[in-house]
Amino acid sequence: MSEERIERDFMNRDEQERRAFLEQTWCDKCLQENLGMKEPAEYEYKGIVFIEGKCNQCGEIVLTELTDEEF
Ligand SMILES: [Zn+2]
Repeated sequence: MSEERIERDFMNRDEQERRAFLEQTWCDKCLQENLGMKEPAEYEYKGIVFIEGKCNQCGEIVLTELTDEEF
């Protein structure tokens, strides 16, 4: 399995799905859920799809890991 980070296009997702991902977040720094994220980027790493953005409140990196059912 590739250990490279493979870029994916977050904008290929439909608007409703994008909004859900941007709103449904968990921030490790704020220790709060659903603060939202900005500047989303999507990629695949070791067979797992991640959506990475910055917390709307503190600006820290927020990572959402997608399970099989979600992609
Ligand atoms: Zn935060």
